[in-house]
Amino acid sequence: METSIFNKAKHLITHVHCCNSCLGRQFGNLLSGLSNKKRGEALKIILLMEWENIHRLLKKEPPKSSSLLSEDFNIGKMSIQRFFSEIQSASTHCEICQGNLYPQKLKELANSALEALNEYEFSTFLVGSQFPPSIIDKEDTIRSTYNLEFGESIKSEFNREIGKILQEQLTLATVDFKTPDIVITFNLRSDQITIKTNPLFILGRYRKFERGIPQSKWFCRECRGKGCEYCNFTGKMYQESVEEYISEPFLSAAKGTASKFHGSGREDIDARMLGTGRPFILEISEPRKRNLNLTEIMEIVNEKAGGKVEIDIEGITNRSKVRELKTRSSRNAKGYRVIISLDPPIKLEELEILAIADEFSDLLIQQRTPLRVVHRRADKIRSRKVQTFRIEKFEPHQLTAYVVCEGGLYVKELISGDEGRTQPNLSERLNTTAVVTQLDVIEVLSEKDSF
Ligand SMILES: [Zn+2]
Ligand SMILES: [Zn+2]
Repeated sequence: METSIFNKAKHLITHVHCCNSCLGRQFGNLLSGLSNKKRGEALKIILLMEWENIHRLLKKEPPKSSSLLSEDFNIGKMSIQRFFSEIQSASTHCEICQGNLYPQKLKELANSALEALNEYEFSTFLVGSQFPPSIIDKEDTIRSTYNLEFGESIKSEFNREIGKILQEQLTLATVDFKTPDIVITFNLRSDQITIKTNPLFILGRYRKFERGIPQSKWFCRECRGKGCEYCNFTGKMYQESVEEYISEPFLSAAKGTASKFHGSGREDIDARMLGTGRPFILEISEPRKRNLNLTEIMEIVNEKAGGKVEIDIEGITNRSKVRELKTRSSRNAKGYRVIISLDPPIKLEELEILAIADEFSDLLIQQRTPLRVVHRRADKIRSRKVQTFRIEKFEPHQLTAYVVCEGGLYVKELISGDEGRTQPNLSERLNTTAVVTQLDVIEVLSEKDSF
């Protein structure tokens, strides 16, 4: 088997018209720190010297390979013209890349990309490309025919070389292979450039001061968002939501196409969310602007929400944080303030009540999926802990309590008993019907505060 690089290169260029890059790329994995163009040039120089050597010593004829006359190999034309003044550079395209790796072509494509990138803000980018299958196939065939085992793929050379040109102009951005802000794809079948931006993730906390506002936008159950009589042609079940108050100003500032709201759990529509607020991440799809003035947008949100919803923004985050937020939320402890009505009113003394409340502190509760949610959740029994149960205000017909419990415990049912599905429960313990009439989430405790 032929192993000499010299012979392989000679064999190849005798049969295939190739540019410097395409010749060099066939040996691209040999040596590092130089471009394929350089590799190809070096090989052509040796082959050209060999031709001149033979031409002078033995047979007086021009070289058999047109690759030594390729347009990007000026030295070939000059040397050959010394003996054959009528010979010109080859006018055909490189048979392998079809001209797609010519410096001029790369520069033109890079310039169009830079123009398209003008309207985007990003600090990291990545280049991708799609080549016509005919080009990929041709190179594969050549590799097996000429036994070339150290070749680099044409796509990886193209991406790298055009990336270098872009990098020269994009001085504030760097290449990122894992999570680039922006991906520029060159489609060489149509010479089109596609720009895809990765989502922007904004981390914050929200408080909800008014009852009756859902966390996320609810589409109308009749028309599913199209608009009908039932929803008064709004397409929504509720006219406002925490999600909408937050997402709209950010979406328009980032010039994105869509947004997704990820809450760290959710409170009931009729519960307020107070205290330090509930963590959320807002995901903006296809943002054109990434350098947002977060404080300014936060102020717009707070002003528009008119005291119903208020947010604090912590900053920009990433997708992995969304998963963290979701997996954690179910276990995060939460602190609630609840108003409980007692019917009939109880005859116990305040001290007795305080003692009963204290029995619930640090108590493990067995809770079967509540009747009010069992239509959409699996019916099963879960064990969750109450951390703190403290009576703040006592009246025979009404209690105000502060309750901290493990994520996933349904507080309303802890009080009512849910027809015995939650054990133990306050109703049974007080021997009356206890019902939550008001509930506020006052803190969502972070991992370290949770059990
Ligand atoms: Zn080529
Ligand atoms: Zn509707």
